[in-house]
Parts: sequence; structure tokens; C-alpha cells
Amino acid sequence: MAKFEYAPAPESRSVVDIRSSYGLFIGGEFVDGLGDASFKTVSPATEEVLADITQAGPADVDRAVTAARTAYRGVWGRMSGADRGKYLFRIARIMQERARELAVLETIDNGKPIKESRDVDVPLAAAHFFYHAGWADKLEFAGLAGGSSAPRPVGVVGQVIPWNFPLLMLAWKIAPALACGNTVVLKPAETTPLTALLFAEICQQADLPPGVVNIITGAGETGRALVEHPDVDKIAFTGSTEVGKAIARSIAGTRKRATLELGGKAANIIFDDAAVDQAVEGIVNGIFFNQGHVCCAGSRVLVQESVHELVVGRLKRRLTTIRVGDPLDKNTDLGAINSAEQLERIRTLSGVGEAEGAERWSPPCELPSKGFWFPPTVFTGVSQSHRIAREEVFGPVVSVLTFRTPAEAVAKANNTPYGLSAGVWTEKGSLILWMADQLRAGVVWANTFNKFDPTSPFGGYKESGYGREGGRHGLEAYVTSGAGQ
Ligand code: NDP
Repeated sequence: MAKFEYAPAPESRSVVDIRSSYGLFIGGEFVDGLGDASFKTVSPATEEVLADITQAGPADVDRAVTAARTAYRGVWGRMSGADRGKYLFRIARIMQERARELAVLETIDNGKPIKESRDVDVPLAAAHFFYHAGWADKLEFAGLAGGSSAPRPVGVVGQVIPWNFPLLMLAWKIAPALACGNTVVLKPAETTPLTALLFAEICQQADLPPGVVNIITGAGETGRALVEHPDVDKIAFTGSTEVGKAIARSIAGTRKRATLELGGKAANIIFDDAAVDQAVEGIVNGIFFNQGHVCCAGSRVLVQESVHELVVGRLKRRLTTIRVGDPLDKNTDLGAINSAEQLERIRTLSGVGEAEGAERWSPPCELPSKGFWFPPTVFTGVSQSHRIAREEVFGPVVSVLTFRTPAEAVAKANNTPYGLSAGVWTEKGSLILWMADQLRAGVVWANTFNKFDPTSPFGGYKESGYGREGGRHGLEAYVTSGAGQ
């Protein structure tokens, strides 16, 4: 397959205005931290320092929680669902109006290709606010909180999100919380705070009452202080299983509720009757979308033995056409790895894959000299005991395994501590239904992969966490039949 040559088509950076330093967004305004600590956020594609970010300490966390509590007891707690819906709708419209700015900023701070931030992250984030705007005045008819006709908000929600979909994860967390009448304190990841801080400006622009949304920046310690704050009623966390377990331990025995969206090691299962080229596109989308920094990524491809050679051959041919490089270039398919730390983890696990005997392959591709980069990588000859088949690599690395029968495919797919998602590729509808019934995964995609919609609940089995986000099910975590706090 010939690789087309493209002239560079860089998206302009002029649409964003990155300040040299940022404070914390508490009580509706940007304020300085009470301590002096700060950290830098860098562009992973160039290692350029973008801004100085305030590191919130425990006293700042306390200020933010107090602001959220005051807003909850005050104007937000008294507001009708219809009026809350208007604020959510207004936020969604402003996100659409500022979509280009949000997309460029996300790409600069995260390293993901502009075509993904522009066509996936930002439109979906806005869609989450639109969708939840519609729920705000209909909660009593949704059969929530055990069928209560008057579900109440939970109170003040502490939300901690990762760096792979910074704005989208913010939307998944904040939109349902606000629709249900809660107030929030959200901590974005250390390496990707900028779109959350721009979202804070959007809250100001939307005239959202002060304290309803508070954004505090910092690293893991700030997240921990938020989780442990005694006046937080509920925790919503997305990130690694390790930190998820630590959070579950730390809130055990308290009245706090939690939803945890953790890691995954999804099987993307290709049967011998599947449309091969579509399935190959599905493999590429499943693992190379967002550099593989996706909790539900199809990182284990299970191919029926009779078509193994055919599928792997077509996959390798397809990967020679992937364009790796400047994330702001509209032609780029695979952007930068989010951080030096994550790059090291991907390198280490890939090295282990080779050392354990799997065969490693990458297409010839030139990587930029500055920044954090990893080529698309395929491991064949992988067995279930290999670490690359068991652990979340969270990078553009796919392991290919084989199976002979549907029962073997199910056994292998379910042979993981995780259970977030799975994909099935076959022409047979009955097989799709049977597989969907057998697979212990929160989402099963059939003849597609990585499809998201705000109306559709998302979440895991086993060590992939508990609770659902999105759809009517996602509202459940943010309401109670009791009096609220
Ligand atoms: P973490 O789970 O450490 O980070 C997720 C969020 O939690 C971040 O905002 C982080 O802050 C915060 N955090 C870290 N420690 C604590 C704590 N003790 N209490 C409360 N909050 C905390 O993921 P990493 O970024 O370290 O990534 C490590 C690995 O996790 C990746 O290689 C990947 O395998 C997996 N991962 C999975 C994700 C998923 O969606 N399933 C998402 C991200 C990572 P900060 O970033 O500022 O340190």
C-alpha cells in the first residue's frame, strides 16, 4: 500500500491564549493558592513549558469544598431542575462556540491529534452537557434512587480525573453531577490542567453561580486530600486501578459514596467470517486512537487461528500508512505520548514483551527528535501469561493472540482481572448475541469499536471499577432518596 505524501496542514495556535500562570478556581473566581507550590505543564510534543500551575494544598482543598458546600446550601440547592438545565445548556452552547479553542488547547497540553480533539473529545464533551441539560427537570420521572418520585442530590462531589481525555472526562463527571443538583470540586491530572482551567472561564461566562464548580490543580497528593476531606459526600474517580483501590480503602467505613472507573485490558475478537478490512480498521481504531491512552482500548486482539496470518498481514500493511507526528497537523493519526513517565512505562512493558518471547514489529517511521514518542507496535506470538497480555500498557501497543472456537475466545477474553470493554467481529448475529452474553465486560461493541454516546452507560466489571457513567444509569450515582446533606 503506497503511503500518500501530505503537505503539512497545521492548525493555528493563535486561537488559544495560554497565560503564563494559573491560580485555582474557587467560589467562581481565580484565586492564588494559600501556599507557594506550583508546577509546570508542558507540551508533550515539543517539551515546551506552557504555563505555571498552582499546586493546591489541603487548605486550598478545604476552601474549595467549603465554597461547594455554601453553593449547595444556597442558590444551587434551591434552584429548580428547569433552571439548572438552562445553565447546563448554556455551558454546552459556549463549549460549541469555543470548540476550536478547546480542541487546540487540548491537543497542545495532551499531545493527542487535533483531528481527534476536534472531532471526538470536544463535540462529545458538549454533547454530555446537552444530554444532561435535558435530564435536569425530569429526574422525578426517571425511576432513580429506588424509584423515588423526588430524588435528591447527594451534596458536594469530589471528582478526580486522568490525563487521557481531560475535557471529556471533566464533562462525564460535571454534567450529571450538576444536572442532579450537586456541587463539585474537580481535580484534573497534573499533566493536563489547561482545558479544565478554560472550562472554569466558561463557567464564569455562563454566569454559573459561584461555588457550583470549583477546579483545583495539583498532583496525586491534592487528589488524596480531596478524597479524604470529611465534608465531601461522594467521590467520582477515573484513573488507574491501583489508585482506585487506594481510594476505596481510604473511604471504607465513612458515609462517602464512590464510583470508580479504572483500568482495562479489552479483547477485540476477530472471527474468521468477519469482513477483514473493516476488522483491521477496528483494530487500528481500538488501539491506536488517542495513542492507546484509552481505558477501554482493544489492547488484546484475539484472532481466529484460520485467519491469523491474513489479519496480521493486512494490519501491518495498514500500519505503514499511519502518520505519526505533530499533533496540531490535521493529517496526523498518532500524536505524542502524554508524558516522559508514561513513555518510560510503555518502553519498559514493550521490552518485557520481547524478553518474554513475543515478536515485536513496528512500521518504519521517523519520530520527532523532541517530545515523547512511541511508534505503533504489534506483538505477535503472545501468550496469555505474558505481561503485555495481562497489564495495561496504555500506549500504542497491541498484543495478538489466537483462538479456535467461540468458547476458547470467551475463556481467553475473560481471563483478565479487568472487564471494561470488548469487541466482536463476525457476520453472524447469533454469535454476536451469544458472545455479548458471555463476555464479562461493561461494554461490548459488535463490528465497531470505541463508540461513545452520552445516552449509553459506560463502566466496568471486576477490577475495572464500579458504577456507570452516562445514560440514565449514570445519574443514579448522583442522587439519593434521602434528604441529601
Ligand atoms: P493515576 O490513577 O495515578 O491518576 C489519575 C488521577 O488520580 C490523576 O488526577 C492523579 O493525579 C490522581 N491521583 C493520583 N494519586 C492519587 C491518590 N492517592 N488519591 C487521589 N487521586 C490521586 O494514573 P497515572 O496518571 O499515574 O497513570 C498510571 C497508569 O494508570 C497508566 O499507565 C495507565 O495504565 C493507568 N491509567 C488508566 C486510566 C483509565 O482511564 N483507566 C487513566 C489514566 C491512567 P496526578 O495525575 O496529578 O498525579
